[in-house]
Amino acid sequence: MYDYAVIGAGIAGASVAFELAQIGSVALIEAESRAGYHSTGRSAALFTPNYGSAVVRAINAGSSPFLRDPPSGFANHPLLTPRGLLTIAGPGQEACLDTIVATAADEAPVHHFSATKALALVPLLRPEVVAAAAYEPGVMDIDVDALHQAYLRGFKSLGGQLFCNARVRTIVRHAGQWDIDVGGSTIQGTIVINAAGAWADQIGAMAGARTLGLVPKRRSAIVADAPVDIKINSLSAVDMAGSEAYFKPEAGRIMASFGDETPTDPQDAQPEELDIALAADWLQRHTIIDVRRIEHSWAGLRTFVSDGAPVVGFDGALDDFFWLAAQGGYGIMMGPALAKASRSLIQHNRLPDDFEKRGVSQSAISPARL
Ligand SMILES: Cc1cc2nc3c(=O)[nH]c(=O)nc-3n(C[C@H](O)[C@H](O)[C@H](O)COP(=O)(O)OP(=O)(O)OC[C@H]3O[C@@H](n4cnc5c(N)ncnc54)[C@H](O)[C@@H]3O)c2cc1C
Repeated sequence: MYDYAVIGAGIAGASVAFELAQIGSVALIEAESRAGYHSTGRSAALFTPNYGSAVVRAINAGSSPFLRDPPSGFANHPLLTPRGLLTIAGPGQEACLDTIVATAADEAPVHHFSATKALALVPLLRPEVVAAAAYEPGVMDIDVDALHQAYLRGFKSLGGQLFCNARVRTIVRHAGQWDIDVGGSTIQGTIVINAAGAWADQIGAMAGARTLGLVPKRRSAIVADAPVDIKINSLSAVDMAGSEAYFKPEAGRIMASFGDETPTDPQDAQPEELDIALAADWLQRHTIIDVRRIEHSWAGLRTFVSDGAPVVGFDGALDDFFWLAAQGGYGIMMGPALAKASRSLIQHNRLPDDFEKRGVSQSAISPARL
């Protein structure tokens, strides 16, 4: 019997479990044998303050103080390290850069860069694909594993209990409690927090909630060797104006994605051969990398509702059933701010002050808006 039963131990579940363990007893329930197996373990690990809708950007700005300066003892080393992001425009696409520069947040500026400067910054690029560029120095690498593990460690040290291999089968409201059947045993919680990522609508349906219309979208990535004569670890990430394709250094190699967004059922996503081929082809056309061998490839799900903002709040029709879903392509960077917002909504029925200051209202993220 717990005050809070959190379903799903990705970044959303782990972070909210950590916050809630500070105010009550928490069970964190995960279907897989380890936490972080799905989307959380498959991200590009970037903190990109100017990516996503206005609501998403404001939430990311809210995560920034925590990621830059986590509570003492939370993590053993920095969670963010500078990466930078170079957006390149091919011939005829230069106008896209004006919008990117003009819409950047004041605290995360983006500067126009000449093609010459861009090629000097990332000498992997083919000169013919760069007509102009823009550079965002505030983009960071997130140590996702360190962040996720720190949340889990902190949660456990506060008395929280993580149950792995515990796939939720049914959720029944009974005598003012939720009975959660995890295949043979029952965990009881006063409040259920649905942080099941791509499966959140399935969990909602088990509890009798109206579904939100969540759409998991598969995105694939490859890792390939870089030329040995270029020091790649300190290069900035690169994306393409007007497209979702990007590449970035990763542990001495190059990770690239064509930016596929294929709607799919919730599942253990695997990369399709075509998406791997498209990523390799894009990388070869834009860089001097000769993709002879793909070291590694993977796919993960980015789960959205129609307006692209996350869904955070109590279900309108069910007592004590809280949604923390639809993290899209931003769930790692939004994690700290959304965890604090969830705690504040559960404890005080209002968002933290900094949400209101940044212009994010309860209605912008509530399930009621859908
Ligand atoms: C290729 C790619 C690149 C990305 N890049 C970035 C990036 O650079 N920056 C960024 O911030 N975000 C990025 N993202 C998005 C980010 O990874 C996700 O938004 C985030 O991981 C979602 O976290 P989550 O906890 O909601 O979901 P998940 O990590 O999927 O966790 C949900 C958990 O719920 C569990 N679950 C489901 N059903 C049940 C059940 N019945 N019982 C018990 N447990 C259940 C699952 O097993 C799973 O572990 C990227 C995603 C992809 C795929």
